[in-house]
Amino acid sequence: MPSCEMCGKQDKLFRTLVEGAEMTLCKDCSRFGKTLAAPRIVIKKEVLKTKQETKYEPIEVIVLNYGQLIKEKREKMGLNQEEFSAKMNEKESLIHKIEAGKHEPTIELARKLENFLNIKLIETSEEESVMPAKRSGPVTIGDVISIKTRKSR
Ligand SMILES: [Zn+2]
Repeated sequence: MPSCEMCGKQDKLFRTLVEGAEMTLCKDCSRFGKTLAAPRIVIKKEVLKTKQETKYEPIEVIVLNYGQLIKEKREKMGLNQEEFSAKMNEKESLIHKIEAGKHEPTIELARKLENFLNIKLIETSEEESVMPAKRSGPVTIGDVISIKTRKSR
């Protein structure tokens, strides 16, 4: 615990200007100078700010029906899977799996597909919408870990 630079008392301390020098003093000693600020309050504010920024950080996720959307638009454009995968410079087997909904494309690939097909595959969502929606019941520690893992991608 920090102590007063003048009397050594361990107490709530204040940054105090004493004859032009800045000192960290207890409440009693700070009366001898000009109090600038209480250091602890400054630290608390910084912590709060960081927490808030993390909470509202948006994350990008692939829409649930990506396979259907891609397939429908590709067929509208008159391309078969082989022609389409060649244009995308991707393996036909990968496109097949994506359209079947068996393989979620990466954000990079989804962007490429979005641009080519002129459809929307990526949505930006905040922390809340990543919660598992299919089941009910309380959130377990396992759920929290998976949310954190997904967020950090
Ligand atoms: Zn003191």
